[in-house]
Amino acid sequence: MAPAGSIACDDHSRIAAAPLHAPVQGRGGTELMARRRLPPGARTRALEVVERLRAEYPAATCALVHESPLQLLVATILSAQCTDERVNLVTPVLFARYPTVEALAGAAQEDLEEVIRSTGFFRMKALAIRQMAQDVVERYGGDVPPRMEDLVTLRGVGRKTANVVLGVGFGVPGLPVDTHVTRLAGRLRLTGSRDAVEIETDICSMVPREEWTNLSLRLILHGRRVCVARSPRCPRCVLNDICPSAELGPLRARPKGGSDGVRRRPQATARKRPTRSPSGS
Ligand code: SF4
Repeated sequence: MAPAGSIACDDHSRIAAAPLHAPVQGRGGTELMARRRLPPGARTRALEVVERLRAEYPAATCALVHESPLQLLVATILSAQCTDERVNLVTPVLFARYPTVEALAGAAQEDLEEVIRSTGFFRMKALAIRQMAQDVVERYGGDVPPRMEDLVTLRGVGRKTANVVLGVGFGVPGLPVDTHVTRLAGRLRLTGSRDAVEIETDICSMVPREEWTNLSLRLILHGRRVCVARSPRCPRCVLNDICPSAELGPLRARPKGGSDGVRRRPQATARKRPTRSPSGS
């Protein structure tokens, strides 16, 4: 049972309480995860990553400007395939025109599309926002529900979006797994999976619950600033000496190294052997 004053989140409670590598039960007793096998040394690395990224980005916050869980939910839907800066330009206009969840639920599709057009995929996003708002009004009395199991039943809301709203909007620990978290979790060998739910399960099984939200925000920041997709800036990375993929570059994602999966940096650069001519002289 969740402590008094806190908001229960069944999925997360199960993940947090599960012993390392144990099965995680999903809703309705069905098994959400098969037995997970983590890469060697992942737990040690994960805790070190938490410490170092906390020191590097002490004030990590969600860049999406919002004043309520509803606004955050809408902004997160808009942020798919779009920069946070662009979303932050659009949402003031959007929320001024549709200030309540009822207004969003009753918005005309074409009008909503026009307001959010610049965020891309505007038809799909407009539909998702309208349907989400309709669900909130019809099934939750106009209040965004503060539980994962309810959030993911809203049309247009996936697990990543739900985790953002939980973690940032309600203060309930959640680990949103986006493209940056996926990439960094793979390079740092915190998981052997590319599946978002499995990545979330693996990281949450190794990291204290209270760190989940901030770790996700910091991984995203680090992914934008340093561990970028095409050419990671390994020489200036604070995780360089513990990262199995350090300086391997984008095309060599598989780590090399010892039994703990950590690629050790050579103590000294090997001397280049002199080139011999074909004659041997
Ligand atoms: S050392 Fe390189 S690959 Fe590893 S986390 Fe840092 S930037 Fe990314």
